Amino acid sequence: MSIKATIAVHGGAGSMSYFINEEHRQRYLRGLVEAVNAGLEASRRGNALDMVVDAVSIMEFDGSYDAGKGSVLDLYGEVEQDAGVMWGKDLSVGAVASVRHVINAIKLARIVMEKTDHVLIVGEGAEELAKHFGLWVPSIELINEAKINRYNSLIKNLGSRYRKNVDLAKELGFMDTVGAVAIDKDGNLAAATSTGGTILKWPGRVGDSPLPGAGYWAENGVCAVSATGIGEFIIRAMASFRVATLVKGGVKISEAVKQVVNYVTELFGPGNIGLIAIDSRGNVASAFNTEVMGRAWSQEGLGKVIVAHYPGDPFP
Ligand code: ASP
Repeated sequence: MSIKATIAVHGGAGSMSYFINEEHRQRYLRGLVEAVNAGLEASRRGNALDMVVDAVSIMEFDGSYDAGKGSVLDLYGEVEQDAGVMWGKDLSVGAVASVRHVINAIKLARIVMEKTDHVLIVGEGAEELAKHFGLWVPSIELINEAKINRYNSLIKNLGSRYRKNVDLAKELGFMDTVGAVAIDKDGNLAAATSTGGTILKWPGRVGDSPLPGAGYWAENGVCAVSATGIGEFIIRAMASFRVATLVKGGVKISEAVKQVVNYVTELFGPGNIGLIAIDSRGNVASAFNTEVMGRAWSQEGLGKVIVAHYPGDPFP
């Protein structure tokens, strides 16, 4: 069977309150289209791994998402990013966590995968690696005035400096992590996820996004998955690996993502997870239990990018 290179991306599952105005929302949706186009462009000269890394890099650079330049601030007003990537051909994984000075954390995750024999490198060690590969940046490139103002007003309104972060993330609905899943013409699957984590998180807190099986999974012949939502729940449900297990057992990809979202909802309530996935034939699927999830997909030869935001929007 010949496979057409196919890619799907998400810009996080959350609530409409994230968007300052319609212009902001449109910018967010346009960024998803640009990411899909970058992935398709990569498919012409590379494989599924190039596709997901290029798509996620575009969104990290955009500033409209909770990743890269748009990363939310932690409790002490710092950016701390997590990212992970997986190559389905041999189950290679690379990830970084709690990195403060890195532009394109997903590229650093790929470096962990390809240039070291480790899976996950955190904090200063990861930043040291970033220096060697030209990915280290001063924090001024990741923290801007708008973010500082939002941080200050949140801290002021909260009354105390620390609240249970999971409750807060759910209440604010700011979950705009980015992710991509892809298949290339040779049938290889890949997945990538990158985030600034949950807003006002405790410094050093690590979410699902750099953890294989939780925030992403890719396995040739099965599927590739990327997750968004409240990391603490996604980790406990091992959401991405759970989708793969269902697909391996013969469940259709569209059913598998729904079943896992329903499972998380039964365990932890609504408003905490979104998934995108692609199977080994290039079928794309998504499911979420939040108000909205920005998502987009396309494939070689389709000639357009399908973008969706609300639950009822047409999307595979
Ligand atoms: N899953 C991310 C985390 O918990 C947050 C998000 O999806 O926006 O770190």
